[in-house]
Parts: sequence; C-alpha cells; structure tokens
Amino acid sequence: MVVNSVHWFRKGLRLHDNPALQEALNGADTVRCVYILDPWFAGSANVGINRWRFLLESLEDLDSSLRKLNSRLFVVRGQPANVFPSLFKEWSVTRLTFEYDSEPYGKERDGAIIKMAQEFGVETIVRNSHTLYNLDRIIEMNNCPPLTAKNHLLIEMNSGSPPLTFKRFQALVNVLELPAKPLPTVTKEQMDSCRTKISGNHDQHYSVPSLEELGFKTQGLGPAVWKGGESEALERLNKHLDRKAWVANFERPRVSMCSLMASPTGLSPYLRFGCLSCRVFYYNLRELYMKLRKHCSPPLSLFGQLLWREFFYTAGTNNPNFDRMEGNPICVQIPWDHNPEALAKWAEGRTGFPWIDAIMTQLRQEGWIHHLARHAVACFLTRGDLWISWESGMRVFEELLLDADWSVNAGSWMWLSCSAFFQQFFHCYCPVGFGRRTDPSGDYIRRYIPKLKDYPDRYIYEPWRAPESVQKAAHCIVGVDYPKPMINHAEGSRLNIERMKQVYQQLSHYRGLSLLASVPTIQEEAEPPLTDDSQASGSTCESPPHTSSAQPNTLKRGRPSDSPGAPKATQSKHQHTTAPREEQEPDQGEWDEQQHLAEPMDSQ
Ligand SMILES: Cc1cc2nc3c(=O)[nH]c(=O)nc-3n(C[C@H](O)[C@H](O)[C@H](O)COP(=O)(O)OP(=O)(O)OC[C@H]3O[C@@H](n4cnc5c(N)ncnc54)[C@H](O)[C@@H]3O)c2cc1C
Repeated sequence: MVVNSVHWFRKGLRLHDNPALQEALNGADTVRCVYILDPWFAGSANVGINRWRFLLESLEDLDSSLRKLNSRLFVVRGQPANVFPSLFKEWSVTRLTFEYDSEPYGKERDGAIIKMAQEFGVETIVRNSHTLYNLDRIIEMNNCPPLTAKNHLLIEMNSGSPPLTFKRFQALVNVLELPAKPLPTVTKEQMDSCRTKISGNHDQHYSVPSLEELGFKTQGLGPAVWKGGESEALERLNKHLDRKAWVANFERPRVSMCSLMASPTGLSPYLRFGCLSCRVFYYNLRELYMKLRKHCSPPLSLFGQLLWREFFYTAGTNNPNFDRMEGNPICVQIPWDHNPEALAKWAEGRTGFPWIDAIMTQLRQEGWIHHLARHAVACFLTRGDLWISWESGMRVFEELLLDADWSVNAGSWMWLSCSAFFQQFFHCYCPVGFGRRTDPSGDYIRRYIPKLKDYPDRYIYEPWRAPESVQKAAHCIVGVDYPKPMINHAEGSRLNIERMKQVYQQLSHYRGLSLLASVPTIQEEAEPPLTDDSQASGSTCESPPHTSSAQPNTLKRGRPSDSPGAPKATQSKHQHTTAPREEQEPDQGEWDEQQHLAEPMDSQ
C-alpha cells in the first residue's frame, strides 16, 4: 500500500528529536512537512510582533534545513479544520502525524482533526515530545493507590487532580522512569527514501509569509534580539552547557545587571516553540553533570527549571479554566479591582517606578525579561501594589513574551499573585529596593528609560526624591518628563497584605492558622514596614508623593469560594512574627525558597 504522509508542525519546530516526524517518514513513499497559518487571524490574535517574527524565523530555519534534505516546508494558509480535507484529497494522504499537545484547547482541536482524518481514511499518529514525561501518567500516579513504599506518597482520592505542590510533583517524578531518550535528527537518507516532488511554484503557494503579509507595520522595528529557529537553539544549547560546565557547581549565577539583559544562552523561547527538544536539553545536562562529577547520578534538582515547566503543564492539562479565575478549581477567588487606567500605566511602563517601567519597556521592546524581573512586575500589578487581577497581567505577558506559554504563564501568574500553589502573601517585592540590590548603579534603568540616564545613582530608583536642582541638572523633571509614582507603595502594599489576609482567612483550609495571626493588621501596625534598604543604607522605600490613580478601594469582603484543590497551609519554618517586610534578597535562592514553602498537600 502506498503511504503518503503529512507531518503537521505546530510547536516542535525542529528536525532533531521529533518522534512524530520520524513516524511520518517510517516506510512512507512521500512525506510533506506542513505548517498551517491563518494570515487573517494573525492581526487579531493576542500575539505581539516580536513573537510573530520569532515564529516566522523559526519556520524559515525549518524550511532551510529541509531544503538541505531536498525537501521543503509547506506553509498552508487557513485554519486546520478547513484546509485538511482539501490537502487529504489533493495529496492522497494516508497518514497524518503530529506532536501531542497537552493543553486543553489543543486536545480539543486535535480530537476533531483525528475524527476528521478517520472519516477520510487517514491514519493519525501522535507522539509526545513537548514535555519530558507523560503528564497523564503523573496525574494517574497522583490519584491512584498503591502507595509507593519508596517515598510514602500521600494519596489523594479526588480522581484526575494534578499534584498542586512542586514538592509533591517532584516526589511523583522521582519514582518515574527517566524520560524517553531523544531521537536522532532526520537525515538526508531518510528523506531521500520518501522524496516528494516539489513543484516549481512552491514559493508562490507555500512560502513562509513576511510580517507585512500578516498585516504588521515593520517601519521602525528594531533588529530582533532573539533569533528564532532550531539552528540558533542548538548553538545556544552548546553555549548554555559550556557556561554550566564553567560554573561546575551547576548553580544559577547570582542575579546582577548582566543577568537582566537578553542572554545568548537563554533557552525559554526555543523550548516554547519546540525549536529545542526538552529531552535533548535534559540528557545533555545529565551527561555533562556525570562527566564533571565522575559518573555520579545527578540529583533531581539539576533539572529544577525544566521540572517547573512540567509542573505547570501537568497542573493545566485537564483544566480548561487554568488561565482564568472563575470556574478554575485551583484558583483562590480574589476580589481584584477593575482599573483599566492603572493597568495601562503598568503595561506601558508609565508607573513612575523606574525599576518597574524599565522591565516593562524591555518586555515590550525585546520580548524577554529575567525570571525575577517577572516576579517584580507581577507582584506590583497584583497583590503588591495595584491589586489588579493576575489574568490582566497574564494577557499582557501573553502578547509580549516570546516564550509565552499557556500553562507556564497562567501557572506562574497564579503563583505570584497568591491565587494558587499557596504562597506567603505577606512577602512583597519593593519596587525600589529589589532593583537597587540587583543593579545598584541603575544601568539597567538608564538603558531602557534614557530619560533618566543623567540621574545620579542615589536617585535613579526614586527620582521623585531628587531635589529640584538635581532633576533640572538631569534634564528630567518628575511629573513633567517622567511620571510621578502612581501609588504610595508602603501604604498600598500594606493594605493589600491585609486584603489578602482577609481572603485567606475566609478559606477553611487556612482559617485559624497562626500563620495568618502573625500578619499584623493595618490598624495594629504603628510603624511603617522595614525594608532592607532602610536598615542597610539609610535609603528608604517609603511613601512617594501620592498621585495614585490606582488608589486601592476599601476592602471588599466578597466571600471567596473555598478552593477545593488549594493546598493545606503548613506552619512555615520562615514564619514571621514581625511586621511584613520587603522580600529578602530576591536572588537565585528566592525561587528555591518557594519550593520549601510549598509543602505537600495533606490528605483532606
Ligand atoms: C509571572 C511569570 C510568568 C512567566 N511566564 C512564562 C512563560 O509564559 N513561559 C515560560 O517559558 N516561562 C515563564 N515564566 C518562567 C521563567 O521566568 C522563564 O521560563 C525563564 O525566565 C526563562 O529564562 P531562561 O531560558 O534563562 O531559563 P533557565 O533558568 O535557563 O531555565 C531553563 C528552562 O526551564 C524552563 N523554566 C525556567 N524557569 C521556569 C519556571 N519558573 N517555570 C516554568 N519553567 C521554567 C524554561 O523553559 C527555561 O528556558 C514565567 C515566570 C513568571 C514569574
């Protein structure tokens, strides 16, 4: 029987470790590599120009790699459900292959395509390669007896629920077999054995579109800081590993001004689009570790970052409402404020806090910001200062981040806003002190907010404190050339901590815990909160002149619904008995600390 395969690229934009593509090639007479893109949809989608550019570059790279194998990429214009029937007929397709998509929307779309393929007599083959593990297997283990004696896992009997703490997730992964080994890159010999005729007018019908064709105005668009594609991803992987080998203890370096900038070893957009296989990353890391540590098996923590990715994918895979508060069983219902004006100031980098504005400007211009910079702006928007829903912030990230990922983005926003995966809400990042500790001279701010470049180091994080003479000398008057701070951080964050305390007090899991009792109420607190800065350098993070358009409303006492999946709070070893303090040294260790704070969910 003749086998005419179509491999449908969506994520997984690579020729290395691509099991579904290997299935397409296996014994086939013809193979066509297809990407389906709807140019009419492009402009209306919530995807910014940087991410589109990254995608198009990745497709160009794929096409160029396929050319070297005497093949081509077919970029088909339209919607999958509309174009497949005609492709099936036109190319007499007998086999359709694609990578498994674990997201609820993707599963629904793929289910419909599989059904349609069946009607056309087309066999479908789906393979997992976007995640290290089979996520359904993790969920199954999370719910099913028997207990594994090895680590005395606690069993939750609510079927289908994912692990909701990272610690529990790690415990489950720990008893799983290692991830499947990556497959070799597709070769010319393989492609030659099922060569497909490429017509002379291929480019006319199937070329990678330009940004202009997608309706974007490219005038004034700066050069891409992140270049899309598998070739770039593999080069970066080598650099990433070289750096890891150099830092042989495998720790993440301390955060400095340099780490805030786009790094030539950064991988997240490449993992997001599947230009880089997470399994290749995993096994390269493992081999490097074993080489440097004389064959010692690596601890699970070596793969910490990759496992966070898997954690959020697992948490979201069966929850179509994972990206919203309402109807989301794991999300604490918080009565956030509706304040479009404040949201716009945050999104456009006009908050009047240079650290926050610089981060949001970098995000808009380049499409990537450092993990802790994400913490800073997410905390500021939600529980820290503006009390605006994490959903709004998530949507801005979704538009602007190159690595924007449905599961990881929503999961991280819920995390940061204390909406899920229990967090200590009485920690709050200071929009002045946090940046100053990371980059004391403020070079990062000078780069992204050139208006402030002539400010002395002392005032670069708090220009509103500079005397008029200093503002004049710096050619930037606060309130005229650069906005006044939109909120009094000290007051706003204290009020928000109180609001969050009330929300959590109404959740049965948390009620009565001494953890909550240790958070002082606003009335109780006579003195302004201490900051590291106020102790260390005499500089303060206290009230800027109040010009808030984001003045928090008085407390709303709408009863938040109990979150069935919410983890039971445990007494933290980091319990604070004093006034809320700004986050301690939010460096590398900070993320690790979060892992300790998230205790495994007890059976309820
Ligand atoms: C509010 C918020 C939103 C975020 N949204 C996204 C998103 O949409 N997509 C995304 O990939 N990451 C997101 N992150 C996680 C993290 O910030 C980025 O993955 C990281 O900054 C990428 O930089 P890197 O490639 O240098 O990571 P590295 O530290 O080198 O880590 C290697 C890889 O592991 C994965 N990874 C690292 N940290 C995390 C993490 N905390 N959670 C999940 N995966 C991780 C990424 O794929 C990353 O490329 C978000 C974090 C926050 C706080």
